[in-house]
Amino acid sequence: MPLEERADVLVIGGGPGGTPAAMALARGGKRVVLVVAGRGLGGACLFEGCIPSKIFRETAARRLETARIAEFGLRLADPQVTVDWTAVQARRHHILTMRAQGALAQARSIAGLEVVFGHARLCNSREAVIEVEGKERHVRFDHAILATGSAPNRLPISGADLPGVLTSEGLIEIGFVPASLVLIGGGPIGIEMGQIFAALGSRVTILEAAPRILAPVDVVLAARLSAKLDAEGIRVATGVHIEAIEGGEGRYRVRYRRADEIVQVDTEVVAMVAGRHPNVDGLGLETTAVRHDRHGVKVNAELETGEPGIFATGDLIGQPMFAHWATAQALAVARHLLGQAAGWPRPETNSAVIFSRPELGMAGLTEEAARTAGLDVAVAEYDYSFDARAQISGAADGLLRMVYRRDDLRIVGIHVLIEGAADLMGEAALAVACGVTLPTLAEAIHPHPTLTEAFALAARSALASLGQHPAHQRRTNSVTRP
Ligand SMILES: Cc1cc2nc3c(=O)[nH]c(=O)nc-3n(C[C@H](O)[C@H](O)[C@H](O)COP(=O)(O)OP(=O)(O)OC[C@H]3O[C@@H](n4cnc5c(N)ncnc54)[C@H](O)[C@@H]3O)c2cc1C
Repeated sequence: MPLEERADVLVIGGGPGGTPAAMALARGGKRVVLVVAGRGLGGACLFEGCIPSKIFRETAARRLETARIAEFGLRLADPQVTVDWTAVQARRHHILTMRAQGALAQARSIAGLEVVFGHARLCNSREAVIEVEGKERHVRFDHAILATGSAPNRLPISGADLPGVLTSEGLIEIGFVPASLVLIGGGPIGIEMGQIFAALGSRVTILEAAPRILAPVDVVLAARLSAKLDAEGIRVATGVHIEAIEGGEGRYRVRYRRADEIVQVDTEVVAMVAGRHPNVDGLGLETTAVRHDRHGVKVNAELETGEPGIFATGDLIGQPMFAHWATAQALAVARHLLGQAAGWPRPETNSAVIFSRPELGMAGLTEEAARTAGLDVAVAEYDYSFDARAQISGAADGLLRMVYRRDDLRIVGIHVLIEGAADLMGEAALAVACGVTLPTLAEAIHPHPTLTEAFALAARSALASLGQHPAHQRRTNSVTRP
């Protein structure tokens, strides 16, 4: 398709918030131009987020597992495990390249979809300029989807711009395992990275301004995870105000205030992992009626910006910033533009995983959020320390919390802390999205021995405590909290 002509839909951004929309629209018969700046299809998720951090996590987890093999009746002649960081980074490059190439091949196989590697800028409500290797190409469009994502924050702290002070991007690219690491930010990225580098041998300190880590997460599970970090020797300080970062070249000092006390930590590496801001610079939004603030581009319930016909998805429109959430939005906009029933993603049915160790999975509302929303809820808990599969795998320290409405027993939230939780969250998301009730979940036959049995067991226990299902026995490891 000659680019200077027109596109039915112009998609700006090749991450999870852009690419799936472009593909679905082209498959639906639209002429689509997908513009991608950066290293290739995949966005922050592939190149500096979800995938590389999980590649590092896998290495860290295997290192920890190897240290425990004797527990499982295995002996190594030389139990010493050292980290070859160059090999870890090479593995990351290999997987990223493979995935980016696979995505591009898939996109190029779709008729009607043109992928352009360049930088797009809107010039008015129906036209954009794409800079490709110093040349400009003009595209007129009927509709556009803005999915340019977000970039890591550099907090306004004295010394934040010192050479060598990293963000999450720099941490992914780091060429060595630091002896010591200070992470500024106790959100998902800070916790994941903290545990990864601690497992690889770094002395880790996490500094969080809020009174607790992982603020929006289920409070009971966040407290358990916090205790786990403590037991692993990761120093976590909450309620801190960072005063300054000083030094340089591998010898930094981070000064922070906590209550009336001034504390300083000396560290080889310091990284800011406290939040991200939308990528709006250079996008030409001022030439349109698209509006934004520091949280992101403003959209209505159908993800349309202030400029009719221009939509926005993913990190660009603010929290929550997750790849699957961006993709759900992208696909909803695509369905809408194809004239199909859209089914707009609802925050109260979103799911997510924090890839801590153990993993912390969540779907739907926390108990706190449900009560704030005015719902009359109770919580069924299942303690994994009695669970067969968890005991067998040697990782039985975990808890499931299921939030359900008292009136109709519909499940509105499932929160799980257990190694393996990530892969349980599909069922949890389905239960919440479909408004599954306790009896339905209790009666669904879950295979044994698996971590997912906990769902049915917690539901049965809740029913037993309500006296509604005498056939369901109350289990010692399950409790229901009013
Ligand atoms: C360390 C880390 C770990 C993470 N782990 C997870 C996880 O485990 N699970 C999860 O769900 N989420 C995770 N995330 C979040 C996830 O990466 C983002 O939510 C997701 O990538 C957002 O997708 P997006 O398409 O909105 O933006 P992005 O993925 O950022 O994609 C934006 C795209 O737009 C392009 N672009 C920007 N400006 C222009 C322009 N003017 N013209 C053309 N192209 C442009 C960029 O090059 C990029 O391709 C993590 C993030 C980080 C930083």
